[in-house]
Amino acid sequence: MTQIQTNLLSVRRRMAAAAQSALRSPEAVCLLAVSKKQPADAIREAYALGQRDFGENYVQEGMDKQKQLSDLSICWHFIGPLQRNKTREVAENFQWVHSVDRLIVAERLSAQRPDHLPPLQVCLQVNVDDEDSKSGCASDEVEALAKAVAGLPRLTLRGLMCIPKPGNTAAFTELAKTLQQIQATISGLDTLSMGMSEDLEPAIAAGATWVRIGTALFGARQ
Ligand SMILES: *Cc1c(COP(=O)(O)O)cnc(C)c1O
Repeated sequence: MTQIQTNLLSVRRRMAAAAQSALRSPEAVCLLAVSKKQPADAIREAYALGQRDFGENYVQEGMDKQKQLSDLSICWHFIGPLQRNKTREVAENFQWVHSVDRLIVAERLSAQRPDHLPPLQVCLQVNVDDEDSKSGCASDEVEALAKAVAGLPRLTLRGLMCIPKPGNTAAFTELAKTLQQIQATISGLDTLSMGMSEDLEPAIAAGATWVRIGTALFGARQ
């Protein structure tokens, strides 16, 4: 077995075990392979093992890999900080964006999403640690942002995403609660994007539907 094969099996086992302990169906949790700073060949290898969803953080790097891998049916997710001058590339080339944190970015993504493509699937990134320096919308502003984003024609709002500080597993439960509150007024929200290599278990226990895994799959980044 190759390293990526061993890693993929191990991550899938961890996900299934975490789902089982939480009395959740293993199918309710999807694996997003985070391939930032990994070569296209590593993605190709994971794809050959059945992985279809890949997450990239940087627009240019993601576009370069998409070109190299255009023969594969990959579902591309953008998960990094998104500047307003980079929205067009993302709107035209990705199926999901997990990191929308302000209305202007959402408006531009909607306006720039090509008509021949299905609506862009979007999560709102919430700043669960309330640190000024980090990206993500403030917890008390999520609901208003969600209402505005849900009304944009070329986006489908799916749910919430967070990147808590290491060890802040309570943030996962908080994000799940916030999603429940918003679900009372907006329909169709079914997604909690939370949990990375080090903390996928508590994220799944709290209700994650996507875990975003880089290091545990591909090893250390270059
Ligand atoms: C890098 C990254 C990940 C993956 O982190 P690992 O600890 O390598 O699993 C997940 N989500 C986001 C937003 C990231 O930037």
